[in-house]
Parts: sequence; C-alpha cells; structure tokens
Amino acid sequence: MEFKHIPIMLEEVIDGLNIKENGIYIDGTLGGAGHSLEIVKRLSSGKLIGIDQDERALEKAREVLEPYRDRTILVHDNYENIDRILKELNIDKVDGILLDLGVSSYQLDAGERGFSHNKDAMLDMRMDRTREFSAWDVVNNYSKEELEKIIWEYGEDRWAKRIAEFIIAERKQKPIDTTLELVSVIKKAIPKKVRMEGGHPAKKTFQAIRIEVNRELDVLGNLINKISRLLNPHGRIAIISFHSLEDRIVKDAFKELYRDCICPPELPQCMCDKTREIEIITRKPIVADEIELKTNPRARSAKLRIAEKI
Ligand SMILES: [Zn+2]
Repeated sequence: MEFKHIPIMLEEVIDGLNIKENGIYIDGTLGGAGHSLEIVKRLSSGKLIGIDQDERALEKAREVLEPYRDRTILVHDNYENIDRILKELNIDKVDGILLDLGVSSYQLDAGERGFSHNKDAMLDMRMDRTREFSAWDVVNNYSKEELEKIIWEYGEDRWAKRIAEFIIAERKQKPIDTTLELVSVIKKAIPKKVRMEGGHPAKKTFQAIRIEVNRELDVLGNLINKISRLLNPHGRIAIISFHSLEDRIVKDAFKELYRDCICPPELPQCMCDKTREIEIITRKPIVADEIELKTNPRARSAKLRIAEKI
C-alpha cells in the first residue's frame, strides 16, 4: 500500500497547534508521519504520541521519527480510543491533538472486508466486527427512500435515486451479496457517458454505505466532545476533513462546545450548567493555497478547523 507522504497544509497545521516545546501532542492519524515529524522537531522535553491502526504506517513512521525517538510514543490503535490510550500511558491531559480524517483506518484490510469497489468480497464494511449490522443489511434491507437518502447525503452522488431504484430491482431477483455484484448494479444505474468521467462510478455509493454502517459521523461528533475534555487550558485541536459532511460535523461540534448556555430562550435566567469549553480559532475553515494544490491535488477538498481549550 502506498502511504500518502505529502502532509496536508503542513505549515497551517503546525501554526494552528501553537506548539510548546514542553507540551504533549497527539497525532491521531500518523500515516506517513509528515505532520508528526514537524511536531517533534519543535519539542524539547515534550512528547509526541502518534496513533495509527495500520502496522505498516507505524513501521514507516518509526523510521521517519527515529532521530526523535526519545520524545516519541507510537501506539497501534484507533484514534477513537484516544481516552483509553492516554489512560494506559498515564497521561491525564495533552496540549494539542491533530486528526487528519483523510488518513483513515478503513484502508486497513480494505479488500477483504468489503470496503473496496475494486476487490470482490462479501458486503461487510464493519470497522467494529463485533457489531451485527453490516453493508449487506443496508443494501438488502433498506427501503428505496433510505438508500436514496444515504447515497445522496453521504455519497453526494447525483444519481442516488436511480442507484436506489436499481438496487431495489436487483434485490427482487436475488440478494446482493458481494461488492462486485453491487458495483455491477451501480454501473447499470449510471448512464455510460457519465460513467466515463471522473472516478469509479461506485466510489460514492461505497462511501455512503461505509459511513452508514459505521455511524461515522456520530462517532466523529462524539469524539470531538471527548477530545475537548482531554486538553489542557490553551491546548489546541486541529482537524482536517475531506468531505463536506465531515466538515459540517466538526463545525457543529465546535459550535456546541463554544456555547455557554443551552437554556430555552423563554427562560428569564440561565438555569443550565453548560459552560463554554473552547474558543474557535478558525471562524472559516482553512483551505490549501494554490502552491499546495499544484503539488498535491488531494489537498483540493481538504478543510482545516482549529479550536483552543479555554
Ligand atoms: Zn443556560
């Protein structure tokens, strides 16, 4: 597997984290360790905790970060478990957290677990395999309206309605069991002329189903809540997203943490105990500049949001 070695918005991320040389920083999505390398360079007595679910990414990161071994802790895990990871390291709070949602764990075993539209496998896509609900259930049991909704909203595929209709029609013949069966249905639903432009015709629908199966957007929202409790005062959180839905989740989660009262407006005085937890540093998301876009087209859809713990 190729790792994406070019770190997205490197300068902006490093500025945004406002690194203190004695601070503790987490890179929740280590990947090729591009961001992490710039973080550790700025530390003296501080520490960098790099998390990745992919062993191969960790191996690569170990090489890259070798000169800074004394201030680096590498952890093989999913960043979702960030609070448990810190507990195990006996660390209470940290000074900065970076999440690059583009370097994601679902690439792990992608083929075998039915995440990939390029490899034949049973429709699965569960990241947590202890759960029963899988891509098979979405494809074979959701109503036409439900399918259309997720493909439209999570996949942002303008052919959502037709794809949903074709899935329903196919299901009437027999269940859709495998990735390639689903791909062939999607191909039938999208007119040939359109199919030739852009990426793989099944890419957006696969993304939508993956998000639905793993409740990814809920997980992200909950995670941001959790993260704010793990930050020291003035600690920063920086999140890079590649999908407008993800960016909206980050934006809304930040907004919620920023609110200092959740009482209904008709109450004469505040009766809630909600307090403001963060300041939002980026009112609008930071995007890659022209120079970066020229060298790294992947940066095109990237959005960076930063907040600071009060
Ligand atoms: Zn209130």
